[in-house]
Amino acid sequence: MSDLGSILDIIQRPFQLEGKTEYQDKAVIGGLGAYVTNWVDKACENIPPEKTGLLKNLADLFRDYSEIPPNVRKARLQEASSIIGQLRGQASDAPEKPADDAPSEAKRVPVETSQDTDQLAALLTSVKYVKGIGPKRAQLLAEELGIHTIGDLLEYYPRDYLDRSQFKPIYQVGQSGEYETIQGVVVNQMEFTSRRSTKVLKVIVYDETAVASLIAFGKRTQYMKMSLKTDTKVVVSGKFKRSYNEISTSEYTYEVLSDEDAELIHTGRIVPVYPLTAKLNQRSLRRWLKEIVDQYAFYVPEILPLDIRKRQKLIDKSQAVKNIHFPETEQARKKARRRLAFDELFFLELGMALKKEKWGTEEPGISFQPRSDLLQKFISSLPFELTSAQKRVFAEIEADMKSGRCMSRLLQGDVGSGKTVVAAMAMLLAVDNSYQSALMAPTEILAEQHYITLTNLLEPIGIRVVILRGDMAKRDKDDALSQILTGEANIIVGTHALIQSGVEFANLGLVITDEQHRFGVMQRAELKGKGTNPDVLVMTATPIPRTLALTVYGDLDVSVIDEMPPGRQKIITKWVAEGKRQEMYKFIEDQIAQGRQAYLVYPLVEESEKLEDLKAATEMAEHFQHEVFPHLKIGLIHGRMRAEEKQEVMQRFKNNEINILVSTTVIEVGIDVPNASLMLVEHAERFGLAQLHQLRGRVGRSHHKSYCLLVANPKNTDAVARMKAMTRTTDGFEIAEEDLRIRGPGEFFGTRHAGMPDLKAANLLRDGKLLELARDEAFQIIADDPALTKSEHQMLKQILQEKWRENLEMASIG
Ligand code: ADP
Ligand code: MG
Repeated sequence: MSDLGSILDIIQRPFQLEGKTEYQDKAVIGGLGAYVTNWVDKACENIPPEKTGLLKNLADLFRDYSEIPPNVRKARLQEASSIIGQLRGQASDAPEKPADDAPSEAKRVPVETSQDTDQLAALLTSVKYVKGIGPKRAQLLAEELGIHTIGDLLEYYPRDYLDRSQFKPIYQVGQSGEYETIQGVVVNQMEFTSRRSTKVLKVIVYDETAVASLIAFGKRTQYMKMSLKTDTKVVVSGKFKRSYNEISTSEYTYEVLSDEDAELIHTGRIVPVYPLTAKLNQRSLRRWLKEIVDQYAFYVPEILPLDIRKRQKLIDKSQAVKNIHFPETEQARKKARRRLAFDELFFLELGMALKKEKWGTEEPGISFQPRSDLLQKFISSLPFELTSAQKRVFAEIEADMKSGRCMSRLLQGDVGSGKTVVAAMAMLLAVDNSYQSALMAPTEILAEQHYITLTNLLEPIGIRVVILRGDMAKRDKDDALSQILTGEANIIVGTHALIQSGVEFANLGLVITDEQHRFGVMQRAELKGKGTNPDVLVMTATPIPRTLALTVYGDLDVSVIDEMPPGRQKIITKWVAEGKRQEMYKFIEDQIAQGRQAYLVYPLVEESEKLEDLKAATEMAEHFQHEVFPHLKIGLIHGRMRAEEKQEVMQRFKNNEINILVSTTVIEVGIDVPNASLMLVEHAERFGLAQLHQLRGRVGRSHHKSYCLLVANPKNTDAVARMKAMTRTTDGFEIAEEDLRIRGPGEFFGTRHAGMPDLKAANLLRDGKLLELARDEAFQIIADDPALTKSEHQMLKQILQEKWRENLEMASIG
């Protein structure tokens, strides 16, 4: 037992228990005082006397340990930990050690994984008991941020940090062009009015090396004048400039220091910056968090099994909680974030794994078997050969359907990749087993399109396809409903109308949703509930970046059609400036002269089509008909038209009786007119990327060279980024990644996607790799211990039940 590191381990070992037992000095027999001094003496024997200074300091902290009150003991232990950290830093001063590693973390002995679920209780204490908060502010926290407990508050992570660990003397700043931090005292204020009659305030700060001027303009001057009176101590972080011997800044943040800052909450360290609301200020939040981190971070139980922590090189949970708020170094902050992000992703995936496991064991599905040559007949009736991607994906679906387990699979494929045919094949397999299939689409027009496509494909081989629409005449509706009920209808296509209460199926065996992220999981569930454990296939054309697929659809198996049918042309996409309109018309004219057709889309969202917008589209159609292309046939289609009207216009477009179809976004999905080779989008800057990509997917469906013209006048950088992405690539995955980058995950799916987890530390854009690691570990645990019955998994189970209850239910529906 000679080396210092091991002795430090021994010294530190009872600290945690001491904390858990409220600092009653019961962690070791004979008391911590005797224990620590004894071990310090041993350590001193082994190192040169000139290096024993810190060890002596450590021992000094414990000499009167048995006599001091618990709160003082606590402070002593904290200080002791910090000294031990420094000692470890010295001990491991080997050259390979990264210089910025947090000394107190080096060689830390990982804490044991807790199995005591009661430990979570301390974190459920109301924040109103925290020093400095009290009932009134607790209510404010609840109202403003939904924070009730200490655990909630501990999870209120900083949005940013200011590195105030290193102040620069003022005489040195202003040379690097970087942000720099100074600390000083206000010695003067000067106010004047600029030539353009703006108010200007100069606050002069002095730090015994030099003075710097903080410059403020206009409104800001009032507040600054109040808060930065002479003699105020202040920390300023900003970009400093030097000119005419003056050091000044007009790009800065500052904070007034008060006496409490002796504790170094707001300065002298890497300082957390919390997201604020109008009623909460930075300093209060920081103070409260400092208080609870000091008091309670200790109580945060270690929940991850040790082997996972070791494998994934994760620091202890309580350490992570402490360091996410008040990191000693940048390195420590990064490690803390990684650990906390891992936890979030791990629990998310643990939920997914459990759900998937449940699918496999608890929900017996229908075992569909090929009974006749129906499928074969269908495949040979197709005017084309299936792509190998289609064949592979169907084989995956078929394997699921044949097995006795419930299928819950995501079928992903870019627009035009041929998902519908694959879906039709799956439905045929169900029909072959005397089961019905339902296909639910997000819009009437898409349902209509599916209905036409499926009717064309399947009626020739004797399959009955019916459609159920919201706006059907009562007679037709009753007729459809009775066919669904009797089983006469083999395949039922529809919108939400399918999940209404009057709809009863004879024997629903397969549920397909074509969703474009438009259905909530609940709706999928309702449709599933119309059958008895039907198989579920979710089709989506918007390629989902893998990280998102793993979180939102993490409990589904995924099949990807990653190949386009042969002979497709790459769509040429151009961003057209308003000034080039005439040239563009000429180009359209040429294309139509060659026999092609064009779509012209106006940026209206179907559900919210306002009358004036419709008027614009209608006027545009008329303008085209009378002034631009008088000799061509212009058609108009929009969401306010009745289904039959829409149907009729579509049919005429299909028959090439209409050259240019002016439309609102109703054509966004599903329309299939191979001869149309030109897509013109007006006000393209108003569309989202996914939508633009969908629109573009309407062309390029044949061997004809195809074009997508985006007339756009973007007013912000996001819109410019969208136009650039569209012209750069036609790859749906790239588009989706870009979209995710521009909008962030929440927006990407929209509020309709209720399954989006609320991640606080993790970031789906950056943490793709961590997510996969977390997923592997989570699935491994569930594979070993499917019901989480092992004692070392009790904590996981408990947290999972509390934290993700809602999400589990959400995720539970394929
Ligand atoms: P998605 O639903 O994925 O957007 P569709 O199933 O609507 O794509 O198919 C787009 C077009 O490609 C349709 O006209 C369809 O008939 C055709 N198609 C599908 N599979 C193939 C194939 N293997 N070879 C040639 N054309 C195909
Ligand atoms: Mg389709």
